[in-house]
Amino acid sequence: MTILEVHNLKKIYTTRFGGNQVQALRNIQFSVEEGEYVAIMGESGSGKTTLLNILAALDRPTEGEVLLNGKNLVTVREKEIAAFRREHLGFVFQDFHLLDNFSLKDNIFLPLVLSNVSYKQMNEWLYPIAQKLGIVDILEKYPYEVSGGQKQRAAVARAIITKPELILADEPTGALDSKATDSLLTLFSQINKEGQTILMVTHSTKAASHANRVLFIKDGEVFHQLYRGSMSNEQLYAKISETLTVLTTGGENYE
Ligand code: ADP
Ligand code: MG
Repeated sequence: MTILEVHNLKKIYTTRFGGNQVQALRNIQFSVEEGEYVAIMGESGSGKTTLLNILAALDRPTEGEVLLNGKNLVTVREKEIAAFRREHLGFVFQDFHLLDNFSLKDNIFLPLVLSNVSYKQMNEWLYPIAQKLGIVDILEKYPYEVSGGQKQRAAVARAIITKPELILADEPTGALDSKATDSLLTLFSQINKEGQTILMVTHSTKAASHANRVLFIKDGEVFHQLYRGSMSNEQLYAKISETLTVLTTGGENYE
């Protein structure tokens, strides 16, 4: 089943003074099937954040549509958007976005509190997730008391506790050391194997090599796609590196 469809997406930013226009997205087109793990790569300025913001309904496109389970995100009414986001999407950000005055547990509960789930129910959902993520012992701690990797695990718990249709991750390993990166990538692979659909924007070839499909964006368009097929992570890593070389050096010959 197709979970996400992106059609003819265009985004033009107009600067306030001088009327200069920047075409951040020219014509983005792709879809994601239920259970897929997709990585999106592209150089700085290629439109990744713009795309993710539109998929997260944080920004609106100039043209085009985004269908999440058939529902057009672009036309969800402004006052319903926050609830829509909470009910259907999970987010993992590079810089975690945890609230410092809340324990990890309360941070994880935040999207549920906003949805009026009972405290008893929240605890029942939390335990198996916290166990899988290895954070049971630190749930009462505050973000400043734990490591970056632990904060990111709590952020993943917060993203999955609502059982979102889709997880959107923006450079989720960007602030982690290599050990915490490995552990996060293992975790993402694990929750994907259990059926969670994931869309991850990343600069990191290593992170992308864990996905099952890699989309490359250049100048606001999908330039190329790689499917894992039967490749191992190492083989996919090599293929991604090759593609990035073409993208950054010989790209003109391919257009
Ligand atoms: P990436 O995340 O791949 O680095 P972005 O989506 O941030 O790329 O940016 C794509 C292009 O759009 C860039 O040229 C950037 O300068 C421009 N851009 C991004 N946000 C804005 C904005 N709010 N106003 C004007 N231009 C923007
Ligand atoms: Mg960006």
